[in-house]
Amino acid sequence: MSKINVAVIGGSAAYNLLKEKVFGRVTDTPSVETPYGQVDDIKLVNHAGMKFYFLSRHGLERYAVTAPFINYRANIWAFKELGVERIVSWSGPGIINPNLDVGGFAVPDDIIDMTKSRPSTFFTKAGLGFIRMSHPFCPELRHALLYSVGRMDGNAVEKATYLCTEGPRLETPAEIRLYHSYGADLVGMTLCPEAFLARELEICYAAICYLTNYAEGLVEREFRQGVLFEGMTTGDEKKKVDQALDLMPEVMAEALKVVHSQPRDCQCKNAMLRYRKQGVITEDWRKWIDP
Ligand SMILES: [Zn+2]
Repeated sequence: MSKINVAVIGGSAAYNLLKEKVFGRVTDTPSVETPYGQVDDIKLVNHAGMKFYFLSRHGLERYAVTAPFINYRANIWAFKELGVERIVSWSGPGIINPNLDVGGFAVPDDIIDMTKSRPSTFFTKAGLGFIRMSHPFCPELRHALLYSVGRMDGNAVEKATYLCTEGPRLETPAEIRLYHSYGADLVGMTLCPEAFLARELEICYAAICYLTNYAEGLVEREFRQGVLFEGMTTGDEKKKVDQALDLMPEVMAEALKVVHSQPRDCQCKNAMLRYRKQGVITEDWRKWIDP
């Protein structure tokens, strides 16, 4: 069997798509021991002859794990252990930039990390990890995602700053005003620390976002009890979001085709090269992390 070195991390509703076999046939469910716990939810998927690993980051049943409680380090370690070199992920953030549309797509190129209490590095004791963040998302994977989504939606946003909050609660109006002043376009809860952890283990990482709602205070919305986000999203917007979500498997498949056809020429694979050259670490990445 050829080596599987590409993975997809699915966000909200990935559990449904997996159940409906939208991504193809699950041919294996590897169980991976990591220093942060065992990872049992990764699936090896065969999509029309193309094989890749797939993980629903919120679990296999509806939102079994919310954003602050995802075991990000275990997930990224497990992918590294399986030989994964490139990860494409998706998420459904809210909109801070009023020029963006609900139901549209964006491929973020920058991040602001406003998370508060989740472990965000592997290097808690090792004196490593002063890694440049000029491109927090892999430029090559971003290119593949932009090509792929551009075929489905000519209006996909090519650059956006994603701000990551702790969650699971949504943001207050004052927080959104603050984040807008920071220059954030999108607000979500999951890409930090996923993107940073991947870089620490020299794995390429990029994300595609389908935009689910206008953030609090951006538009007037009556509070409605017992419905999605208590009325932040209208019925019409919900339909657009569902349509965007329906396109996600195809967008991912197209992006993976591009990824598979391209050599890996980006800087991500050398994120820790400085430390290797100094002799501080060896090629054995497991020894980079605290024992
Ligand atoms: Zn890369």
